Amino acid sequence: MSTTQRDYYEVLGVERTAGEAEIKKAFRAQARTLHPDVSDAPDAEERFREVVEAYEVLSKPKTRNLYDRFGHAGLRGGGFTPTSFDLGSLSDLFAAFFGDDLFGVSARPRRSRGADVAAQIEIELVEAAAGTSRDVPFPVTVACAVCSGSGAEPGTEPTTCPTCAGAGRIEHVSRTAFGEFIRSQACSGCGGLGRVIDHPCHECQGTGRVVEERTLDVEIPAGIHDGQQIRLSGEGHAGSLGGRAGDLYVQVRIRPDPRFVREGNDIFATVDLTMTEAALGTTLRVPTLDGETEIEFESGTQPGEIRVLRGRGMPVLQGFGRGDQRVLVNVQVPHRLSEQQRALLEEFERSAGEETYRSDEGFFEKLKSAFR
Ligand SMILES: [Zn+2]
Ligand SMILES: [Zn+2]
Repeated sequence: MSTTQRDYYEVLGVERTAGEAEIKKAFRAQARTLHPDVSDAPDAEERFREVVEAYEVLSKPKTRNLYDRFGHAGLRGGGFTPTSFDLGSLSDLFAAFFGDDLFGVSARPRRSRGADVAAQIEIELVEAAAGTSRDVPFPVTVACAVCSGSGAEPGTEPTTCPTCAGAGRIEHVSRTAFGEFIRSQACSGCGGLGRVIDHPCHECQGTGRVVEERTLDVEIPAGIHDGQQIRLSGEGHAGSLGGRAGDLYVQVRIRPDPRFVREGNDIFATVDLTMTEAALGTTLRVPTLDGETEIEFESGTQPGEIRVLRGRGMPVLQGFGRGDQRVLVNVQVPHRLSEQQRALLEEFERSAGEETYRSDEGFFEKLKSAFR
């Protein structure tokens, strides 16, 4: 008896015109999500039965043809019986269908690239503006110098694995309801390498690799942004079996500078003028990324005014020019007054009128008054 009345194409999620390869691909994809190692869904087994059944029918031209023409009833009439399988051995069934590489486990250890290494450094904003360099220490796996990465004690050689005779794989033949399946597994005797080391190197205990503390002088380009990474190609962990080394990624963190706020390549700062400095005019030194600079404030400087220092911002990373520095004027009003100060200000207030606080006409006001 069939276990489902659902449309087999729908179960696999393919079109009715799907080719053999497409059906197989869809089956694998469905099966993967229902694998007991992956899925916790209570109906995973039920759904897996459906998927297997749909695949059984659609993967063979004879049954697919019957199903296309007569549906489920046609299959029953044609004597089709879906495979019944022991649910306890679902994992084995997967292995029978797909081998061990359902989840991308490679069949044989290959020459592989070494892993990347991450390191982090912190620099000051002014260093980021000028560009700098840092000694960056990091632990890295390198080929063992004593055995040149072979893992065997100098003077000895690795020998052929007796378990797999050097193949690195062991094949199991199993008979199932689907027929005979050859299931291949990495050899446990040699871990799939095909060779065993009888006399492991004393330095690396036979692994062929050792961990070394390395320090590199890393150039940090001017204009770098907080959190950006610098890649040093080939400075990561050593590859296995002679594969190329991974890369070193140095993440650069920029310590916040209390004097500045960075926005892209622009820098914002504030400057405090006392009420009288703003009224009378003054010259103040303000911090920039390249040290202090003098800014002249005219008499009548207003709070909220912004002075732009062109080209005094951050350099453009790997580009030309620099952003700007914007300086926001803050005017400080006294919190406390002595008797004498209060008297002075009161006298000032009596003498002040509308004219005292009137701003100079701007260009448009002048233009308007010209037409009045
Ligand atoms: Zn060694
Ligand atoms: Zn072996």
